[in-house]
Amino acid sequence: MLQQIKTILLKWYSQNQRELPWRTTKDPYFIWLSEIILQQTRVQQGLSYYQLFTEKFPTIFDLANADEQTVLNTWQGLGYYSRARNLHATSRIIVHQYKGVFPSSFEEIKSLKGIGNYTAAAISSFAFDLPYAVVDGNVYRVLSRVFDEDSPIDSSAGQKLFQNLANNLLNTSFPANHNQAIMEFGALQCVPVNPNCDICVLNQHCLGRQNNRINVLPVKEKKTKVSKVQIDYSIHFDENKILLRKRLGKGIWQHLYEFPHCIDMPKDPPVFSETHLLSHQKLTLNYYRNVNNTIAFEENGLEWVNIKDLESYPKPKPIQSFIDNYLDELNSEN
Ligand code: SF4
Repeated sequence: MLQQIKTILLKWYSQNQRELPWRTTKDPYFIWLSEIILQQTRVQQGLSYYQLFTEKFPTIFDLANADEQTVLNTWQGLGYYSRARNLHATSRIIVHQYKGVFPSSFEEIKSLKGIGNYTAAAISSFAFDLPYAVVDGNVYRVLSRVFDEDSPIDSSAGQKLFQNLANNLLNTSFPANHNQAIMEFGALQCVPVNPNCDICVLNQHCLGRQNNRINVLPVKEKKTKVSKVQIDYSIHFDENKILLRKRLGKGIWQHLYEFPHCIDMPKDPPVFSETHLLSHQKLTLNYYRNVNNTIAFEENGLEWVNIKDLESYPKPKPIQSFIDNYLDELNSEN
């Protein structure tokens, strides 16, 4: 049965794959870029960022030579900014320790910053045709359904089990195409909600379908806990300058720019409020004007920035949209 599933997947892929620029290259630098961009990001959105990065940083040397602010600025809008910081740090490691040549063994690739099992297997197989099976969200879904396997995919025992299943299914003669095929199959055919099983090329082999359990697979053990966080910003102008704060600490938005925080909640109503959802936090962002006596002006990371230079400062999405929509109005009231 495994042999049949492998063959069906490869054939399905040859007939249904989307044309994507990172699939036509064997260059590990471009493949790595695409894989980091595509973590937590949809293909459609990832495409434009991939184009942006490959144009701006056509070689790993260009990326390593860029300053962090430029890299974060190019990443702006994609979220999960630790990916961009790791990308940059890893490019420097490859340039300095590997003379700019991307390492070609699974273990060396996995030892790089920001690269876990999945990404190491993807780069090893796509760029170097090494026999490592990828397991991402799409693969979990396909395997759990085809084999009617309900071990939780967010438990370490479950992850081990699915990695073994994926290894057993791997087509070692064509590891790159096999890995692409099973991920693409999960993305296009075996979709999370209401997959069209009637037309599915694997429906004769799919135990989850036979047992009528598609809707409960894959199983997750824990629900993501979302905490509520409130941030009160104060906006300060000084003629043509505005006060920004660089987030230096750990946590969300590290090294991005926002506005100074108020220490106590101001008594005035905010000029604008919004909520912004992150994977683990629901943020309420309140924007105030000139809350002088409550701001830690002595804090590190505060910087007066010329408004016309604001674009070159990487910012979280809600801050950027606040600036786009309200800054001119606020400044004209000044
Ligand atoms: S039959 Fe349905 S559940 Fe099974 S692999 Fe195909 S699309 Fe997925």
